[in-house]
Amino acid sequence: MRRRGGLQAALLIACAAAALLPAEAIGAPPGASAEQRAADAVSKMTLDEKLQLVFGYFASDWQGKKPPAEGRYGSAGYVPGIPRLGITPQWETDAGVGVATQGGAAVKRERTALPSGIATAATWNPDIAIKGGRMIGSEARASGFNVMLTGGVDLDRDPRNGRNFEYGGEDPLLAGTIVGSEIAGIQSNRIITTTKHYALNDLETGRKGHDAQIDPAAARMSDLLAFQLAIERGNPGSVMCAYNKVNGDFACENDWLLNRVLKGDFGFRGYVMSDWGAVHSTVKAALNGLDQQSGWPFDEQPYFGAPLKAAVLAGQVPQARIDDMARRVLWALYSTGAQDNPVSENGAIDYAADEAVSQADAEQGIVLLKNEGNLLPLGPNVRRIVVIGGHADKGVLAGSGSSLVYPRGGNAVPGLEPTGWPGPVMYYNSSPLQELRRLAPNAAISFVDGTDPAAAAAAARQADVAIVFGTQWSSESIDVAMKLDGNQDALIEAVAAANPRTAVVLETNAGVAMPWAARVPAIVEAWYPGRVGGRAIANVLTGRVNPSGHLPVTFYASEAQLPRPVRPGTTSEMDQFVLPYTEGAAVGYKWVDKNNLQPLFPFGHGLSYTTFAYGPVSAASAANGSVRVHFTLRNTGSRRGMAVGEVYASSAGGGWEAPRRLVGFAKVDLAPGESKVVDVEIDPRLLAMFDETGHAWRIAPGSYTLSLGASSRDLRSNATVTLPGFSLPSNWRPGQSPAAPAPRRGERG
Ligand code: BGC
Repeated sequence: MRRRGGLQAALLIACAAAALLPAEAIGAPPGASAEQRAADAVSKMTLDEKLQLVFGYFASDWQGKKPPAEGRYGSAGYVPGIPRLGITPQWETDAGVGVATQGGAAVKRERTALPSGIATAATWNPDIAIKGGRMIGSEARASGFNVMLTGGVDLDRDPRNGRNFEYGGEDPLLAGTIVGSEIAGIQSNRIITTTKHYALNDLETGRKGHDAQIDPAAARMSDLLAFQLAIERGNPGSVMCAYNKVNGDFACENDWLLNRVLKGDFGFRGYVMSDWGAVHSTVKAALNGLDQQSGWPFDEQPYFGAPLKAAVLAGQVPQARIDDMARRVLWALYSTGAQDNPVSENGAIDYAADEAVSQADAEQGIVLLKNEGNLLPLGPNVRRIVVIGGHADKGVLAGSGSSLVYPRGGNAVPGLEPTGWPGPVMYYNSSPLQELRRLAPNAAISFVDGTDPAAAAAAARQADVAIVFGTQWSSESIDVAMKLDGNQDALIEAVAAANPRTAVVLETNAGVAMPWAARVPAIVEAWYPGRVGGRAIANVLTGRVNPSGHLPVTFYASEAQLPRPVRPGTTSEMDQFVLPYTEGAAVGYKWVDKNNLQPLFPFGHGLSYTTFAYGPVSAASAANGSVRVHFTLRNTGSRRGMAVGEVYASSAGGGWEAPRRLVGFAKVDLAPGESKVVDVEIDPRLLAMFDETGHAWRIAPGSYTLSLGASSRDLRSNATVTLPGFSLPSNWRPGQSPAAPAPRRGERG
């Protein structure tokens, strides 16, 4: 449940939507940088104005409390502007798949939903992520929002985390690349976006009370690396700190996370906003790096506002720190263009064009997991098809919580429980059944709802092919079992027993167990496929689209394979417990590889209706220690298709957490017989161990094997490079001067 706030706001801020003044009106010289403009504006602000800039309100009715009138109706947040200086208000909306509306709002803002974040990660295509970001950012701007609360990049450490669907999978390189691309796309609309939830909010159970404990170096090589890569690529104006504790301190008052790593090593210049209700102190939070309290009245107290003013006046929080907070918010407004390009509500939205963006994302993110005997695509000789379950006659499932985007036309399957938070259960009106009927007009396609396995099996017996839709609903603030909901496993078993030509299409949060996997020839993972997901699924099933998605997460055979087979905590987001991430940086495939486990489907896996040859691969290292990999991908089949070349590194003497790490990838479109050569530069941090005490990335001397493959367990071609040992400072960033070889013991550095 969303938590009730305690006291009323002590600070009542009168504000009006200001006419925006040009920068010159507040003294900045024309052409001044965002830094200069921010510094200049801060120099003209009173203490009260600075405090106003760093205190946000929930912008929807909540527990009988009215939001500020100037907020956008039914939205996540609002921060008043400063009319005297022409500084824009901040209008904040969730989230990663589009412009959301808070569940409590009577009237919903109906907008275009992308597929879930994990689906976009499954595209392994940064261009798709940028386009999706551009699209949802444009709808945010056209809806009057200049801050989008998205960029979720917490790693999938546990398939049961109820918010995995909002994130970018289990690997820091893939997640950081995809989510960073989406951030860049959103901000191309001259609005701010966040990345969140910083950090290690990898489980929803106890998210407001659990203490994620992890070796700091391991965190730098896993979750924090994902954030770092996303920030470098997307340059978000803001980072949202998480609810949970990390190594004993709440994330929003965590000196190590915020000051030392984020603002220090990552060089992050924007502002840290709190998650809604994630603040627990005034002085500690201010000193340890929080720049803006969000979503009042979600917190127990308005820790910023009047208490922060008192702390500044008492000298407990230096004046320079409140200046820094305000400067960071202003830097984000200036550097993104949000300040100079005012947003307004009721902008034009081209829904057809936006749905095409969502469809392309879904089509590239759908993963063909299994296809024995080429059951798929459905050919013209398939005359009788039965579609079973998953409300496939009505639409496709969405993940819920604050990120839920309400579609035009409303919920295709209204009334499913829970209808209130953390629901509603939402189906987008894009029916796979109807789309299949449209694409295969000569086939007789019937539908059985799947509630009765025996009836479904009887229908399957009469069909050439049975297609069962399996669903797993998930939402913010809850975790889920690693399985399909209800009796769907039994349903699939019954159908597969009745008709060996059974395909299963999954709409899930993340990985699920599939006890029936050996008994069905074809399995398709469609995730939550977004606004027009039914069309995307039908296009893949009929071969109009050749599937090209690859798993961004490991699909475990059973929960026994997880680092924590028994999920800690009970079911409440308020649970308090220690959550020891003893697996450290060995997340997902690194964990199963290290422990020699056989997953159901490995990280990186994904089939196509054509075939590809991978390799040869070659690798070369430059004098500065950087490594370039060069490889060929060739379409050896008879259909056009997209191949993903995945490059994994292993190190003989690196002391890595796992046998292999993903260090590069590329997706290429290939006509039959065509080949393309790809060149990938490997970020040296992906070859390093992080040294927390020495504040450095250490690349061990020796030989490294670079393997090109079609998945983390399907490596086809190898190359070897030998690297000298070298170190990079902990704040190293791509493009910085070449790495100097590490001094040997006894040498002067
Ligand atoms: C979620 C955030 C979201 C915020 C505003 C919180 O409960 O964790 O992801 O941006 O609410 O709706």
